[in-house]
Amino acid sequence: MSENKDFLRVIVEEDIKKGTYKEIVTRFPPEPNGFPHIGHAKSICINFGIAKDYSGHCNLRMDDTNPTTEDTKYVEALKDAVKWLGFKWIGEVRYTSDYFPKIYEYAVKLVKMGKAYVDSLNEEEIKEYRGTVTTPGKRSKYAQRTIEENLDLLEKMKNGEFKDGEHVLRAKIDMGAANMKMRDPLLYRIRHAHHFRTKDEWCIYPMYDFAHCLSDYIEGVSHSICTLEFENNRDIYDWLLDELDLTPPRPYQHEFARLGINYTVMSKRKLLELVNGNYVSGWDDPRMPTIAGYKRRGYTPESILNFCDQIGIAKANSMVDVSQLEFCIRDDLNKKVPRVMCVLDPIKVTIENYEGDEEIEASYYPHDVPKEGSRKIPFSNEIYIEREDFMENPPKEYNRLTLEQPVRLRHAYIITCKEVIKDSLGNIVEIKALYNKDSKSGQDKSGIKVKSAIQWVCAKKAKRVEVRLYDRLYKNEAPESLEDLNPNSLKIIKDALIEPAVILEKADERFQFERQGYFYADPIDYSDENPVFNKIVGLKDSWAK
Ligand code: ATP
Ligand code: MG
Ligand code: MG
Repeated sequence: MSENKDFLRVIVEEDIKKGTYKEIVTRFPPEPNGFPHIGHAKSICINFGIAKDYSGHCNLRMDDTNPTTEDTKYVEALKDAVKWLGFKWIGEVRYTSDYFPKIYEYAVKLVKMGKAYVDSLNEEEIKEYRGTVTTPGKRSKYAQRTIEENLDLLEKMKNGEFKDGEHVLRAKIDMGAANMKMRDPLLYRIRHAHHFRTKDEWCIYPMYDFAHCLSDYIEGVSHSICTLEFENNRDIYDWLLDELDLTPPRPYQHEFARLGINYTVMSKRKLLELVNGNYVSGWDDPRMPTIAGYKRRGYTPESILNFCDQIGIAKANSMVDVSQLEFCIRDDLNKKVPRVMCVLDPIKVTIENYEGDEEIEASYYPHDVPKEGSRKIPFSNEIYIEREDFMENPPKEYNRLTLEQPVRLRHAYIITCKEVIKDSLGNIVEIKALYNKDSKSGQDKSGIKVKSAIQWVCAKKAKRVEVRLYDRLYKNEAPESLEDLNPNSLKIIKDALIEPAVILEKADERFQFERQGYFYADPIDYSDENPVFNKIVGLKDSWAK
């Protein structure tokens, strides 16, 4: 646990001191209507994290009260996300729909207490009667119905005797309340729709405000943690649980600030639009801010947990810089992954004074990474280097190979350029070079000064790989529409060349391609015939000025 306790943990500790609860119980209550995103990761970290810190437990509950938008595939994605982040829920996954019979009983109880009524205004009238922030609302004439009438109508609603929208059940609170949410909030609505779990058993569905507090209570939740936009719903939460006069202890709602990240959209509705419109390859497209997307891209769970820890828990909404997330993954991989060489845009170099071939032993890790392991890199007179690592007319600060300037081949020798071969259009197709035999890396006696070392691969032994270069999905800091999509968020390179050990030894799934960034063997499309690597993140923040 971090040294500086966040305000939620302060509340939890106070409740522990008071002895209010036998156990600290939290829940992560997503609606299974989309894949979870990084915002959900934050909620997962908070809810499961608090339960873990105080030896309690956290339930995974599907808040499945909207039959038309929910699906089992989203349930699976939510379970995967929680597990991948390293958290465990106790027992089975919970479903609000499992509590439908209980919730209905509570509705009947409220009606019997004269605290709820069946309203028959239509949607527009309900809205109009609610009033505005500055003007009080007006109660519906149907609020005068007797308890018997209400019980009868509620039962008929449940039995499917009415059409969608004909009636609703409302709590009788206060149409003049300053908090608009308290102006007789809706508890049930009629919806003749097939539910992915309860099938056609129900045609009335409880509203969020009714179902949530009761589900929390039924599960013995102590701390119901949600995001700030539910602040005004807290009064209903309290009203319902208090009015129903339940056996204590009962849960209390606490709000924290929602995570927002720049260059990112984070609403399931907008993410669904990207998926349905084929702007991305699916929910797990490596550019998506979904947990499945980060996972496929090559992010580690540790990097996401670290990120959630770093951004902390606040009571006021703010925007987090996406480079902070990128920093977290870079920082994690820097300590973990092997360094190898891959050439994305190859140009051939023939070393005219080199004969035969050899294998160069090279460590997978730099000195400051305390990990062991090395591979053999084949070397011969024909190699490939990155096209941009040679320039005929270089600017002053150019440190790589030029007609005059030698360069070191990483782990190998220093070469100088002798001549360039061009095609009829003037494009360089080959570089003729010379190497210095005394300049081998680690035993250099050549005395030649070079300004940089570049990656290369052996022409005969290199393996062809597909590399997918991912960049930010949006070009604007605060994306609003599809027009803000970054047209260059994916570049596919079919013919990159990689040193053979990466393919044959499979030393890891994640690598640093030296000077290029961190890459991940795509968990779905990678095959021996067509190895595919996803760019996870660059070596430094290429968007920084
Ligand atoms: P969205 O519309 O962005 O997908 P949601 O609130 O409708 O979000 P739910 O499935 O209801 O999604 O969310 C499950 C839990 O995750 C809730 O407790 C919610 O408050 C929390 N959550 C959702 N988005 C964020 C976010 N951006 N930051 C922190 N917590 C979030
Ligand atoms: Mg929600
Ligand atoms: Mg939503």
